[in-house]
Amino acid sequence: MEERTGSAAETEAFGERLAAELGPGDVVLVSGELGAGKTTLIRGACRALGVTEPVTSPTFTIGQRYSGRVPVSHLDLYRLADLDQEDPALLEDYLTGDAVAFVEWPDAAEPELDRVTMRIELRHAGGDARELILHR
Ligand code: ADP
Ligand code: MG
Repeated sequence: MEERTGSAAETEAFGERLAAELGPGDVVLVSGELGAGKTTLIRGACRALGVTEPVTSPTFTIGQRYSGRVPVSHLDLYRLADLDQEDPALLEDYLTGDAVAFVEWPDAAEPELDRVTMRIELRHAGGDARELILHR
């Protein structure tokens, strides 16, 4: 499925709609270049899942946990991309069966992920336009 958004608010709204399909144990991979809107989309999904705290890309850790109506994990594996030998247990704190998990820059971790609910790819499409490709 493909969709075009013309603003950050529209990308957030797309995330909100996706959240309706998500529940405990679901893992959503979100890829795309820097500034493509990964965190923006995840922010919308988190709002819809009842998260009220600020949703920003984790900077000094690989992830954070939010509490919404369900626990929500948000990972950003940007810096993991060039690390070959990472402790697989690193992800375990976040990918728990009770939580919905969103993973930015998932490439490094993807081989370790046994349950992936959906993949979303975001692309710059000129100015504030973005192309969102959803694989279920
Ligand atoms: P990423 O997590 O992919 O690096 P962010 O979501 O942090 O990207 O940042 C996206 C930036 O692009 C934000 O500053 C946002 O306001 C801006 N933006 C402009 N148009 C869009 C759009 N259509 N969708 C998402 N973000 C947009
Ligand atoms: Mg981000």
